[in-house]
Amino acid sequence: MTMGLTKSILLWASANPWMKRKLPRYRFVQRAVTRFMPGEDLTAALGAITALSAQGFSTVLTFLGENVSTIEEAGSVRDHYISVLETIHAHRHPTEVSVKLTQLGLDIDPATTLAMMREILAAAGRVGNFVWIDIESSPYVERTLRLYGTLRSEFPHVGLCLQAYLLRTGEDLTSLVALAPSIRLVKGAYREPESVAFQRKSDVDRNFALLAERLFKELTDSRSRIAIATHDMSLAAGVKAAAERHGVARERLEFQMLYGIGREAQRKLTSEGYRVRVLISYGSAWFPWYMRRLAERPANLWFVVKSLVLR
Ligand SMILES: Cc1cc2nc3c(=O)[nH]c(=O)nc-3n(C[C@H](O)[C@H](O)[C@H](O)COP(=O)(O)OP(=O)(O)OC[C@H]3O[C@@H](n4cnc5c(N)ncnc54)[C@H](O)[C@@H]3O)c2cc1C
Repeated sequence: MTMGLTKSILLWASANPWMKRKLPRYRFVQRAVTRFMPGEDLTAALGAITALSAQGFSTVLTFLGENVSTIEEAGSVRDHYISVLETIHAHRHPTEVSVKLTQLGLDIDPATTLAMMREILAAAGRVGNFVWIDIESSPYVERTLRLYGTLRSEFPHVGLCLQAYLLRTGEDLTSLVALAPSIRLVKGAYREPESVAFQRKSDVDRNFALLAERLFKELTDSRSRIAIATHDMSLAAGVKAAAERHGVARERLEFQMLYGIGREAQRKLTSEGYRVRVLISYGSAWFPWYMRRLAERPANLWFVVKSLVLR
């Protein structure tokens, strides 16, 4: 099946400035969001971390926001992440962070973004933590890969997300392997044209399985981490079998999922001996991110409707 109409509309809305300004003001929209995020502030996220830790899950924090328009905003995002790394350390939480480069000024000045990433990674190094870099829509992919290459040659504790829906990802992986990268593999969350991305779910899934198998075969350096970020449990079953074929120990394979999605699957994977890390988002700039979550499963619109009816 090609991209459904509802999904297309939701992804269009995710990038629409008018909707981004208006919709979050409605209480019913705000209420529906709580299914996917514990709250807007760090305190709520830390509460969720404590509850998830008690159940044996590691976590990764992301401060929502993207495409900032001034270097000052980017600077405050950098400062925020540095203080989050210190807070995590003080509380001894099993929590990493994941950042978006457009939130650190990639649209404005890539050299400043690089400098800010160095500061965040230096802070992470001081407290023995790890930083993941999200991958955003296709116009940013080339710049993100280049920046990751530079950072990985300077820091061991930095990982990159790769998207299985992009036609180019196989080649990107080939050029990354020599760096002993840490990779989080996802399907991809943005609306992309067929000139750059597979459109059919079956093609994306096939490429995901192929790329996962390559990660197991090619990322043999012990510094490389492999994270499989999906809620698609039939895809995960194939991935687990591939890991076994290539002799990848269960403790080395990490599954990552989003807060509030696939809770049963998260528990099952943990009981099977896999590591599971839950991504917790927080922050007030949740609109584009939330619309992408709705687009992944238009049935989620039901939660919005329910919040409207129950208000
Ligand atoms: C830890 C993590 C980090 C990510 N980082 C990035 C990134 O940097 N860049 C990027 O482009 N994308 C990122 N993503 C999003 C990713 O690309 C997908 O859009 C998302 O994971 C949904 O795809 P899926 O693999 O779960 O498969 P799908 O085929 O979309 O879903 C499989 C099944 O999972 C369940 N499911 C999936 N999504 C939802 C949802 N929103 N609500 C309820 N149920 C759902 C449904 O049961 C569905 O049938 C990330 C995802 C995770 C988990």
